[in-house]
Amino acid sequence: MQLFGPLSVALPPTCGRARALFDMATKKKQRKTEDEKCEFKVEWTETFTLIQNLNGLRTCLICLEKLAHNKKSNLETHFTTKHVSFRTKYPLGDARKKAVEELQKSEEKLSSVFNY
Ligand SMILES: [Zn+2]
Repeated sequence: MQLFGPLSVALPPTCGRARALFDMATKKKQRKTEDEKCEFKVEWTETFTLIQNLNGLRTCLICLEKLAHNKKSNLETHFTTKHVSFRTKYPLGDARKKAVEELQKSEEKLSSVFNY
C-alpha cells in the first residue's frame, strides 16, 4: 500500500515568498485594527498624564489641551515633546503617580467650576 505515501499529503505552502507575504498581510491587518480602535488605556493617565473626559476626549492634565488624536503615537509625542521638564522631574513610578494624582484633583476642581 503506497497510496498514502508522503508525496500525497497536501502540505501548506511553506516556500519562502508565499510565507513572507502571508506574514506581512497578517501583521498589517493587526496593526490597522489597533490604530483604528485605540481605546483609552488606564495606564495612559500615569504614562502620558492623560485622562478621558465624559465626552470621550483625551485631555492632557498638564496643559489641559484636548487631544483629538486617537493614535497612541500622537499622544506620546505630545507628552514627550511638550512636557519634557515634567517627564524628567517626575520619572515613572511613585513620583509620577503622585504628581498625576495632584493634577487630576485640580483638574476635577476646574471642571466643576466650568460646569456651574
Ligand atoms: Zn499637554
